[in-house]
Amino acid sequence: MIAANWKMYKTPAEARACATALLRLLAGHERDEIVICPPSISLSIVLDTLSGTGLAVGAQNMHFAEEGAYTGEISAPMLTSIGVTHVILGHSERRLYFNETDETVNQKLHTALKHGLTPIVCVGEVLEQREKGLTEEVLIRQVARALRDISPDRAQPLVIAYEPVWAIGTGKTATPEMAAQAHGIIRGEVARRLDRRLADHLRILYGGSVRPDNASSLLNQAEIDGALVGGASLKPESFAELVKHGSGIGDPA
Ligand code: PEP
Repeated sequence: MIAANWKMYKTPAEARACATALLRLLAGHERDEIVICPPSISLSIVLDTLSGTGLAVGAQNMHFAEEGAYTGEISAPMLTSIGVTHVILGHSERRLYFNETDETVNQKLHTALKHGLTPIVCVGEVLEQREKGLTEEVLIRQVARALRDISPDRAQPLVIAYEPVWAIGTGKTATPEMAAQAHGIIRGEVARRLDRRLADHLRILYGGSVRPDNASSLLNQAEIDGALVGGASLKPESFAELVKHGSGIGDPA
């Protein structure tokens, strides 16, 4: 899976133009599940543009409640009603700027799975935690809390994105070995919390300054099953190049 996180960029007209260009640039590319995550105001227009193609559309966030007095929020049933199939949960920017916690991620995960959305749950350590040797502890804690009371029967669509916070939008990338090691820790914790078979098949994406020039070295790691891409997904040419450079993606475990 290669997911594009457009963050708070692009007007609806720009989003449509970008999606149209991607369709042309990625025509015939069938190897990867590609998910485009525009700002919520552009979900409908991107869905219209990509309708009937192999490209899926995801939201960047949602509320855990199905409806209610939550001004400014959108719900899982609203997303599925227009054809959105994926949702990013717990992105580090949501955790940093909007008070998202492991607990709200867990609540959102329950709701997303209940409504048949494919959740892309983001975890990752900040620089200080890596420097103090706390990466493993942080990843285990984030995964364990996100998965609280999730039943293995329901969790099959789950996707986890390992996004070291120090690598997001900074131009710094985890080495392929660092990423593979973190993915191994995440997979181990999913096996403990849910079950081994599910963990073996779980897709774990890497995110953090993935670009066309480093995509293949990251995606060639057997432990890395895809990428969550921010900055390099904003220009259709660079995203298409990245998708194509990611050739030889490790077999889904
Ligand atoms: C992201 O937003 O999830 C991300 C990984 O951003 P970037 O690729 O710009 O580091």
